[in-house]
Amino acid sequence: MVTLISSWNGAPATRLAADLHRKGMPLLDAIVEGVKLVEDDPEELSVGYGGLPNEACEVELDACVMDGPLHKAGAVAGLRRVRHAAAVAREVLRRTDHALLVGEGALQFARQCGFVEEDLLTPKARQAWLAWKAELSPRDGWISPREQASDFGHAMWAGHKDNATPGGPPPPNDSSTAPTAPFTYGTIHVSGRDEQGHLFGCTSTSGLSYKIPGRAGDSPIVGAGVYTDDAAGSAGCTGRGESSLHNCAAYEVVRLMEGGASPEQAALQTLARMAGRTRERRLLSTPGRPNFNVTIYAIRKDGATGCASMHQGYEYVLQEGDLTRVLPAAFLFPKA
Ligand code: ASP
Repeated sequence: MVTLISSWNGAPATRLAADLHRKGMPLLDAIVEGVKLVEDDPEELSVGYGGLPNEACEVELDACVMDGPLHKAGAVAGLRRVRHAAAVAREVLRRTDHALLVGEGALQFARQCGFVEEDLLTPKARQAWLAWKAELSPRDGWISPREQASDFGHAMWAGHKDNATPGGPPPPNDSSTAPTAPFTYGTIHVSGRDEQGHLFGCTSTSGLSYKIPGRAGDSPIVGAGVYTDDAAGSAGCTGRGESSLHNCAAYEVVRLMEGGASPEQAALQTLARMAGRTRERRLLSTPGRPNFNVTIYAIRKDGATGCASMHQGYEYVLQEGDLTRVLPAAFLFPKA
């Protein structure tokens, strides 16, 4: 039976991947096809088309795929104008001797492989960026959503669907509520195991909202946002990428599983280490307790699966054959 574990937003991806694999598609290809569904979704503000842009109002995508049997990865970082970042990463894996292409080079490679170029910024993501920009400082030339609301009756972004299209109907007039720009942490990760016990991993994201142009998170970095070792397990992370980078989180989880830990224990142990190594005060709500989240998804060589978050309240998707389930993640810190 095929087993897939993914982030909370991955149910359409795991369902399609399981179905395509049942019909004969190799599992890594099936996972990439599944991930495309989420990359195509304009309502998903953290992945692919419709992802929130960087500080300069450009969508930049990061993705990585890892093939367990070959022990080989392909990745892209800071990819602009091509929505299927995971599929480009798979081309890096299959067609090149390199592991990671970035920025302009990644785009040029994608063009050469025949990927279609387009503007990835949706009206909704543009409105979110405009609200973010206007909220940055009272001392710049941008009028904040709160000020817009008090002077014009409504702000251009109220976090309301009807307000997503410029020129669309105005939002319900509620100038007492200060609209704020959405800020996403979010990514899709899928790790999978086929009937032969071979393992595969894939992560795709638009990264941190309003990031500094050129910022790459953990998602395209082998060992941080994804790591797959056919002899031990596969793991991936979502959440604050810098922390997964500083702790080589996905690699750590796989090594712990190799040492005999269950996937859930391995994820919790890695998160505990991450929390213990978080020293900057701005990242702590109390000593030892980070104010950010990271969620780790893991599958062991024998097919055991587990997921854990830094904080209580997160979910993940488990696909076993045709069965898709959304389950609560284990956690390190209960809700205060
Ligand atoms: N890990 C991603 C990044 O830091 C974002 C996320 O998963 O929320 O780019």
